[in-house]
Amino acid sequence: MKLRIVPLGTSAGRPTLRRGASALAVAAESAWVLCDCGEGAQLAAQRAGLSLARLDAVLITHLHGDHFNGLPGLLGTLALEGRERRLLVSGPPGIADLLRHLQRAGALGTGDMEVHVVEQHGAGGQVALDGFHIESRALEHRVPTWGYRVALPDRPGTLDVAKSDAAGVPRGPLLAELKRGRPVTLPDGRTIAPDGLVGPPQRGASVAYALDTVPCPAAVELGRDADALVHEATYEDARAALAHQRGHSTGVEAAQIAADAAARMLVLTHFSPSVQGEAVAQEARAIHPNVVAAEDLSELAVGRSSPATESSSPARPPG
Ligand SMILES: [Zn+2]
Repeated sequence: MKLRIVPLGTSAGRPTLRRGASALAVAAESAWVLCDCGEGAQLAAQRAGLSLARLDAVLITHLHGDHFNGLPGLLGTLALEGRERRLLVSGPPGIADLLRHLQRAGALGTGDMEVHVVEQHGAGGQVALDGFHIESRALEHRVPTWGYRVALPDRPGTLDVAKSDAAGVPRGPLLAELKRGRPVTLPDGRTIAPDGLVGPPQRGASVAYALDTVPCPAAVELGRDADALVHEATYEDARAALAHQRGHSTGVEAAQIAADAAARMLVLTHFSPSVQGEAVAQEARAIHPNVVAAEDLSELAVGRSSPATESSSPARPPG
């Protein structure tokens, strides 16, 4: 029930040699979702070993270029690979028109692929995608922006077969029903409740993605009880006023959001080229105990059954 976070671009505004423009993969076992698609995201995904064929959805927060410009190129590559399978693209109002304009101009080829565009409105809501629970929430930036929460569905608790045998529940449909957490009536008329026979449901791992935004209550809601909150931290705390003026947050503010939300891990990203990510994370650790400064292609495992943080060895793109 775990998810992997693979930061594919952790820079703000423009890519640098060390950090690409905003993009982050949230990967389950056999499918993954891309949050934002800045320039270079498809190359970073390939470097990370993520199969483009297994990409199910692209969730765009807002239409600033550093979050969107990689999408036309990614769609073109998927089409060239011969993909026909549907791809969900979620984004702010206007994203469907923007893609249509690019297509009409010949800048975007999607071939036979079904691109299913969903535009976000108002406070946000559910985004339907098989295999994941996805929600959006309106954030507070200079342009309409929605953050996302990507979670695996909960799984029923483990059934104690020895106990259900002892209770006389026959193997088969009744046992399956019990495993789903529902009481069953046996052929002899007895009703058996799942309590004591089935453990508590296993919660699916969850990742919230809040950028770009000033500190706002919607980010707290998005990150509520999440295994990981990925929050922007464009500047260090000394430049909070500048951050707010530009519609952004500091690492310390992101940590307060994560603490208020009781998120287990805070992953900081969207660093201005003028800040050191690790220094921003260090400031944030005064507020939240589990803070990671995202590095491009440095993967993180999230989920309850694993240690809260696992870092694999970073594999930096050459250059
Ligand atoms: Zn940005």
